[in-house]
Amino acid sequence: MIKIDKDMCIGCGACAASCPEYFDMDEDGKAKLLKEVVSVTECVQDAIDACPVGAITKE
Ligand code: SF4
Repeated sequence: MIKIDKDMCIGCGACAASCPEYFDMDEDGKAKLLKEVVSVTECVQDAIDACPVGAITKE
């Protein structure tokens, strides 16, 4: 399962740019998941790698 730590997120938008299928920016300026990530696809991994603060984690 993929989680976004909203406290860590700095709202840079890199995850949404890397993987718009799963990531979008919320009204609070932080990233949100559009749907549950069942398997870590290449673009989900790209978003994880793109996050400058490591706010996207796999559990
Ligand atoms: S890449 Fe990381 S810091 Fe940037 S918006 Fe996404 S979760 Fe937030």
